[in-house]
Amino acid sequence: MTTYTPPIDDIAFALELVGADRLGDVDTMVEVATEFGRFCSQVIAPLNRLGDEHGVKYNPSTHAVTTAPGWREAYAKYVDAGWNGVSYSPEIGGGGLPWLVTTAMQEEMNAASMAFSLCPMLTQGAVHLLETHASPEQRARYLEHLVSGEWTGTMNLTEPGAGSDVGALTTKAEPARDGTWRLRGQKIFITYGEHDLTDQIVHLVLARVPDAPPGTKGISCFIVPKFLADGSRNAVRCIGVEHKMGIHASPTCTLEFDDAVGELIGDPNTGMRAMFTMMNYARLSVGVEGVGIAVRAYQDAVAYARERVQTRVVGREPGTAIIEHPDVRRMLMQMRSHIEGMRLLAYRTAVAIDEGDPLADLLTPLAKAWSTDIGSAVAYLATQVVGGMGYIRETGVEQHERDVRIAAIYEGTNGIQAIDLIGRKLDLDGGKTLATVVSEMGSTANELGGTEGARLAEIASAVESGADWLREAYATDPRDALGGATPYLRLLSTAVAGWLLGQQALKARAGSGDDAFLAAKHATASFFLNQVVPQATALLPSVTAGAASLDAIPATSL
Ligand SMILES: Cc1cc2nc3c(=O)[nH]c(=O)nc-3n(C[C@H](O)[C@H](O)[C@H](O)COP(=O)(O)OP(=O)(O)OC[C@H]3O[C@@H](n4cnc5c(N)ncnc54)[C@H](O)[C@@H]3O)c2cc1C
Repeated sequence: MTTYTPPIDDIAFALELVGADRLGDVDTMVEVATEFGRFCSQVIAPLNRLGDEHGVKYNPSTHAVTTAPGWREAYAKYVDAGWNGVSYSPEIGGGGLPWLVTTAMQEEMNAASMAFSLCPMLTQGAVHLLETHASPEQRARYLEHLVSGEWTGTMNLTEPGAGSDVGALTTKAEPARDGTWRLRGQKIFITYGEHDLTDQIVHLVLARVPDAPPGTKGISCFIVPKFLADGSRNAVRCIGVEHKMGIHASPTCTLEFDDAVGELIGDPNTGMRAMFTMMNYARLSVGVEGVGIAVRAYQDAVAYARERVQTRVVGREPGTAIIEHPDVRRMLMQMRSHIEGMRLLAYRTAVAIDEGDPLADLLTPLAKAWSTDIGSAVAYLATQVVGGMGYIRETGVEQHERDVRIAAIYEGTNGIQAIDLIGRKLDLDGGKTLATVVSEMGSTANELGGTEGARLAEIASAVESGADWLREAYATDPRDALGGATPYLRLLSTAVAGWLLGQQALKARAGSGDDAFLAAKHATASFFLNQVVPQATALLPSVTAGAASLDAIPATSL
């Protein structure tokens, strides 16, 4: 079974680097991350493999879902310790710490068990939505219970005919005489849509009111509790759970709403606006799933590579473990440098969210899509490092690849994130947000100097040229621009990670204290700038290739 050791020194270093001191007392943040990391490694991590093997059980006669053994107890401990509400305002029962702290905690919890972490994550999303859009009366009834984690929340968007195209949803809401609504329809793939961790589940459901305009303009958001205020059971039930590739312990439910009682949040047809409020948080949280799993996979790979002896290592004594083979080193440095880049990107995004900085809007699709693609790539490399044993279930290493895979798909597929980036984010504030980032990359490149500075300057220039080309293409032939969206997201994400790792290299150079730790920080950043960044700079021709090569073969011949 794999274990998890929270990388507290790395987390603390990253918190400092992204400017945690602007948001509060950094020592307190590190203490919280340390204590929570201990909880994750001791209470949650041991359940990860068990949850994968056991999965969840669905009872078709009662429509109940039972989680894996130990899950309920661990969740109760999580709630009792007050971990769920660390970053919410004290008025609603929270701890008042910045979202940055929850982001670091999410990294730890995902590393311990992504399937477990999903339940609090969805609840946190529900809190964000209700906090901003619900009436004072609704907030009074729901928020404290959700902030504490005593109740859990769900997000109900997806239907069989409405996945990426949320505007195609057909669930209906009819007004009732008492001012509430009756919801009818079916939602699929609802994470923790039914479970036994808590009694109450608060479903946030997107539906259409009568005469709603078509598409996303006609979507309204409703609160549909599993139990109504008088204690009776609402007409929402789970009619099945999915059997899936990974996150087996997280129930993925089909929910049927059969004239279920719902309360409208805000005005009719404003549901998408409400969803957008929580989207930056939720997308960042999903990106952090990539970071967390990558950390766990890396730890597994290093532990195995230190022990496994196989073939004589060139340039080393006989009997030296595989960790000294240059090609194994290559994989470990790829993993390590990407993890540090992803962590900085995620934490920097969280700081921007905390500060209400529009940079958050630009960074969020990067933090979501790049970190989940890279999370998968890192998990893949972990299996590779562990060799045949990595492919065998009992080592627990292949689980990371299966678990993390969904993160590139849900909360807006990574393709949709790339479209969001080029369609909405490049021109944020008239393009100033991106221009500021590019200019700061240039300053960091100058300070760095040497090959590291040169590589960063080159990618900054590619970011700029790519954006210019995409803007023009988007205006003249959007199909050309859309063809370059995903390579551009990768280019820009790697550039931002390179920029932040450039700052890491500078901080490590200037720092004093643990010399070995600082040298490793510098070496990791240097590897990324010298070896990873140039590969992403080379994506520019793919960004500007247009759609012609993609369309060259008719769909019928593909
Ligand atoms: C385990 C799991 C948990 C989930 N949890 C939840 C949940 O809690 N709540 C919830 O509401 N939903 C949930 N989902 C649903 C999830 O959000 C959707 O699966 C996702 O949005 C993609 O929709 P889809 O599966 O219909 O894929 P599709 O939309 O059919 O996409 C298929 C492919 O087409 C691409 N594509 C689609 N449209 C475009 C476009 N305009 N441009 C370019 N490419 C495009 C996509 O990028 C993708 O590659 C979950 C799904 C799973 C599997």
